Amino acid sequence: MLSDTTTNTQVLSSGSEGCGKCVDGFILDGWVARECSCMQQNRMNSRMQNAMIPEEFDNAEFHTYRTVSKTQEGMLRKMTEYLEKFDELRSQRTNSFGFISVFGEQKLREIKNPAERVRMKTLHNNFGLGKTHLQIAAAKELIKRGIPVVCISDVSYMDQLSKARAYNDEGAAVNRMLDSAIHAPVLVWDDIGKAKPSEFRLDMYYQIIDERYKAKRPIIFSSNEDDQTLTERIGDAASSRLLGMSKGNCYAVEGSDYRLKGAAANG
Ligand SMILES: [Zn+2]
Repeated sequence: MLSDTTTNTQVLSSGSEGCGKCVDGFILDGWVARECSCMQQNRMNSRMQNAMIPEEFDNAEFHTYRTVSKTQEGMLRKMTEYLEKFDELRSQRTNSFGFISVFGEQKLREIKNPAERVRMKTLHNNFGLGKTHLQIAAAKELIKRGIPVVCISDVSYMDQLSKARAYNDEGAAVNRMLDSAIHAPVLVWDDIGKAKPSEFRLDMYYQIIDERYKAKRPIIFSSNEDDQTLTERIGDAASSRLLGMSKGNCYAVEGSDYRLKGAAANG
């Protein structure tokens, strides 16, 4: 839960009662108790914890992002530039950022001939470029600046929503999940459009995106779909809203898989 900071603080820092310089986070300065710097650290730690960053991305930082191609150099540059102008963009309608594909997964799925599908998949690779890595690095950077972020991964989030929908609780569980996605100051949405679409899900995509748009809350997203196939996966209304929000900061990327290259170099 977003409000539960105490347990999260304990998870991340062993000495949350005080750092040795303070008592319970406060230092007595004459008659005035001022906040110790460890309190800020604790707050940042709990924001990190609340961001729900998957464990496998513990090391995802900008300095650990490997740029082995021009595409990746460009991706790193665009993400960095976006963060540089984030404060200025934040309150605007076009405050979001996206990495999408040149040739969407949905188009690949529709290729019947297996050999042709493999050929096109190789030609238009968009796996292993490190989109998620950069998104998570951006999330961490924003958290360090004091901005709370929530990260969701499309397939697991949509699965959980569908499960929550089946509870006999008058929609309470669904609303709780929606609430955190809608109200997070920044939402990082990994692999949007990957989950299998359904009427319910299209409705959820639109609700989250449109509510965020109305409240001018940014979304940093990635997708293996392109600007046309995204429509088929998340719906026309949600897709055009999302692409509108990221106008000027949405990049279609493809290129060779750097994980494969890394593996080849190691072996
Ligand atoms: Zn302290």
